[in-house]
Amino acid sequence: MTQALRLATQRLAQTSDTARLDAELLMAHALGVTRSAMLLGRGQEAEPAGFAALIDRRAAHEPVAYIIGAQEFFGLDFTVTPDVLIPRGDSEVLVEAALAARPDARRVLDLGTGSGALLLSVLHHLPLASGIGFERSAGARAVAQGNAGQLGLSARATIAVGDWTKPGWAEGLGHFDLILANPPYVECDAPLAASVRDHEPASALFAGPEGLDDYAILLPALPGLLAPGGVALVEIGHQQADPVTAMAQAAGLRVTLHRDLAARPRVLQMQISPKEGG
Ligand code: GLN
Repeated sequence: MTQALRLATQRLAQTSDTARLDAELLMAHALGVTRSAMLLGRGQEAEPAGFAALIDRRAAHEPVAYIIGAQEFFGLDFTVTPDVLIPRGDSEVLVEAALAARPDARRVLDLGTGSGALLLSVLHHLPLASGIGFERSAGARAVAQGNAGQLGLSARATIAVGDWTKPGWAEGLGHFDLILANPPYVECDAPLAASVRDHEPASALFAGPEGLDDYAILLPALPGLLAPGGVALVEIGHQQADPVTAMAQAAGLRVTLHRDLAARPRVLQMQISPKEGG
């Protein structure tokens, strides 16, 4: 097994920045154990059947998370399929900011919930809160629903059909203490890694020529969805802080910026501006 891992790592180094980690995760998957259990083992086992086929898939740019069907996010295990964007470490900043901003939140809305990573991480840490994961893709809704069950959150998380490109989409949702969103924000012609462009759902990534189309719909709707004192947190591309801040201000929102693990702008926190002169 040790030798098989070494050879697989060499092969994956051509396509992945995390070749050793990828090889270990795929080996653990082929052995049917966790990566930590595998690393704690003595490594004397024979190469498991099927390992080579998993390495072939990764070498053809398929993301590890889709191959093994799982991704950890905010310390929780999520099931992922090609119907959902793979939760990224950078998005953990949004969850941290949400928990810090409204530890007392009772009603949470996640716009475009995908795997449910944002909503379910927040609900896991706020035992008195309940929430809605708004999602237009039936495949993604099934994944989010499954994750809610897996994490013991089905009673507090409602995965709802919704599409913000349809007029009237926000009517009847109610008001929320926390609104979370990681909408599509990639420019249509952005040069993306093959593992992203060829495997992750385009509908979760691309938002027009400047990547701003979904913010243009979502931000004006936020004031009508926020409860008094409510806070919205929206993930942005690292070069989008200025245009998205301007859009939020035009919608009457006050904006605070949070940076990701690489210190790049990543999350805008928004609240309704207090009325001037009042
Ligand atoms: N952060 C993702 C990427 O760069 C994009 C996520 C999104 O569009 N919401 O691939």
